[in-house]
Amino acid sequence: METHECDVVVVGAGPGGSMAAKYAALGGLDVILLEKRAEIGSPLRCAEGVSKKWLEEIDVAPDPAWISADMDGAIIVSPSGHTFKLDESHAGNEVGYVLERHLFDKALAEQAGKAGARIWMRTAAIGVIFEDGKVAGVRANRMGDELEIRAKCVVAADGFESQVARWAGIDTSLDLKDMDTCLQYRMANIDVDPNYCEFVLGSAAPGGYLWIFPKGEGKANVGIGVQGTKCKLGADPKHYLDKFIAADPRLSKGTVLEIVGGGVSTCPGIDEAVADNLVIVGDAARMIDPITGGGICHACRAGMYAGKVLSECAKKGDFSKEALQDYEEMWRDRMEDKLYRNWMAKEKFAELSDETLDKLVLAIKDSDIEEVNVYNLLKVIKERYPELIEEFESFI
Ligand SMILES: Cc1cc2nc3c(=O)[nH]c(=O)nc-3n(C[C@H](O)[C@H](O)[C@H](O)COP(=O)(O)OP(=O)(O)OC[C@H]3O[C@@H](n4cnc5c(N)ncnc54)[C@H](O)[C@@H]3O)c2cc1C
Repeated sequence: METHECDVVVVGAGPGGSMAAKYAALGGLDVILLEKRAEIGSPLRCAEGVSKKWLEEIDVAPDPAWISADMDGAIIVSPSGHTFKLDESHAGNEVGYVLERHLFDKALAEQAGKAGARIWMRTAAIGVIFEDGKVAGVRANRMGDELEIRAKCVVAADGFESQVARWAGIDTSLDLKDMDTCLQYRMANIDVDPNYCEFVLGSAAPGGYLWIFPKGEGKANVGIGVQGTKCKLGADPKHYLDKFIAADPRLSKGTVLEIVGGGVSTCPGIDEAVADNLVIVGDAARMIDPITGGGICHACRAGMYAGKVLSECAKKGDFSKEALQDYEEMWRDRMEDKLYRNWMAKEKFAELSDETLDKLVLAIKDSDIEEVNVYNLLKVIKERYPELIEEFESFI
């Protein structure tokens, strides 16, 4: 069997993997980035909505090449149709761009390549190599040929359905209540506001929400996430999404150009994201925001932190679990409280009646909230309905 050697092998060329590969390569490491698919970013499994501010944090300049639409704000729709419009000045960090995600992912991979990472397409990790009980690389299938890639450290960036961490003995399993099943149609010939993302709450999307993210005149990603425990049949998300579209005259005569399915985790991250010679980033480490389902920015941040920490580990020649603790600290300092708070909020809100959600949207509409983000919304709810947040008020 062919054997290759490198400092770091990264599994998965999504945003998390490309950022990890880029920063490890910038740190002077010999990096191989594996992607099982034939094209980076395709097929699409995303609604493509991101906020703007975090791009600065990962030092990526906005590029019109991968921005499909620049949003003016967001509209939150209550179950009985009360709306709350947030313009950009209020929408703060929660609203921003709708991406061309396949181009965004390719741009990040291109940066990783420019930094020196070798990218191997159509190469799937199929197992982990152990030596003396520790991870020592991965086995892979490269267009039909099996090979071994020996590395000082493996980065598991293989997304929601991650296997690498599990092969390495880390428990990444999810409770059904901590995952949403999503379905989305890329629609054309519809008549939605091209400048506002729309979020529809309530029993129309049990335990989750419906979204309309515009992609230019007459086009949008129209989708739904339904909490796992509230899916009685596999086809439930389709049933709810079709019902929503049929009832909305702006959408009902539209054309479906693409169907996207997938899962998102809605938990506060995994307990341990490092082991000896192993780092887990992004969806593989369950870093998706439990309220919004957004995970691109978290995957990018975590990937960047991982790449930087690996560069430091290389200087010491130590990729042990202990040496990798700096990565644990970095991502947890930046994201863990928010993930935990939003997980608690999700637990609560998934059980609220349509009537209560109507009241909440009206309360938020009446408030003089300056910048709308999940934190500030929870503060308003704390004032009006303290009983809804008492279990996690210390995070607000
Ligand atoms: C329907 C839906 C809508 C979403 N909408 C949004 C949104 O609007 N905004 C947002 O921020 N987030 C959204 N998300 C979440 C977002 O897509 C993820 O959080 C993000 O892609 C995580 O990046 P990642 O790099 O961790 O994983 P991924 O982007 O999933 O990348 C993992 C990569 O690993 C590859 N891979 C997997 N296994 C192997 C293997 N064995 N060998 C080699 N390669 C492998 C995959 O092919 C993939 O390219 C959505 C998710 C879904 C399902």
